[in-house]
Amino acid sequence: MFSIEAMVEKICEHAKLEPEKVRQLISEKQEELSGLVSEEGAAYIVAREMGLNMIRETKKQLKVKSLVSGLRSVDLVARVARIFEERQFEREGKKGSVVNVLLGDETGLVRMSLWNEETGLVKEGKLREGDTVKVSGGWVKSDNRDSPELRIGRGTIEKVSQVVELPDTKQLEQDFQATKSMPVGDFKEGGQYETRAALIQVFRRNPFFGICPECESRVKEKEGKWLCDEHGEVKPKQALVLSGIIDDGTGNIRAVFFRELAERVFGKSTAELRELADNATDSMSIFDDVQGFGGEFVFRGRVKRNSFTENLEFMVSSIEDIDVKGEAEKLLKELE
Ligand SMILES: [Zn+2]
Repeated sequence: MFSIEAMVEKICEHAKLEPEKVRQLISEKQEELSGLVSEEGAAYIVAREMGLNMIRETKKQLKVKSLVSGLRSVDLVARVARIFEERQFEREGKKGSVVNVLLGDETGLVRMSLWNEETGLVKEGKLREGDTVKVSGGWVKSDNRDSPELRIGRGTIEKVSQVVELPDTKQLEQDFQATKSMPVGDFKEGGQYETRAALIQVFRRNPFFGICPECESRVKEKEGKWLCDEHGEVKPKQALVLSGIIDDGTGNIRAVFFRELAERVFGKSTAELRELADNATDSMSIFDDVQGFGGEFVFRGRVKRNSFTENLEFMVSSIEDIDVKGEAEKLLKELE
């Protein structure tokens, strides 16, 4: 419903511009914000600057699938599929806590994080797995794997007692677990897959970005300060992102590796890479020796569409070395 295409269309209509021009404006806006907002987020800003308020339309109830980073005033009714264990942290002597909750409806699942006093709902047993909840006035940001994450912020969350037609917890849990083994050539948008493929290309792009030391969200720079949406000014930690192409003979796809997965592909820690980059005459020389380049692995992840390039991308969530010995034994057994 709020795809980038729909937003571009609305802006075109409103501003009497060609789609190419609108896409260019969105892209420029994203660049202006150092690539820290999603295309959808940038589109909202461009629309707003032209006096077109797309936020009003989000007042209607949304489905999980239509949640994109940058949405505000989100109303959603969904089932609590899973409640994860509370995590505690300390910041400037103050204790804080976060509880992640998986919400689902018939269109998919989304992670919602509850912070500090919001976690009381779970701790007091007012929110349980299987409950139907209504989120009003929530907002959506990108989590550190570039998936949408729902936040309550100034909004509210309440348990709904009336019957709403939603898949049950068991069904949602199955969707969550469902990772299908699939050749790359058969990858579909939104799919959760496991595939054995080779990393045939690595893109030479700045792999470093700053994250909040507490919640690990991406930080934004403003007037020389690093800001986290949740924790204000912070001293950011460095994190890593790497992208390349994986191919399994049936097809290929751009694959994106975040953080420890990028470290794994590089074969070096973020700190080591930072030091190498800082001491090299050409910081991109850190790409000269990428350990995983050319290697074959079992990749797991989620396929999503990059709304700018319109190409599918594989957001990798795990990498496993191929069990060469196991594979050989299996082959020998088949020959016996
Ligand atoms: Zn933070």
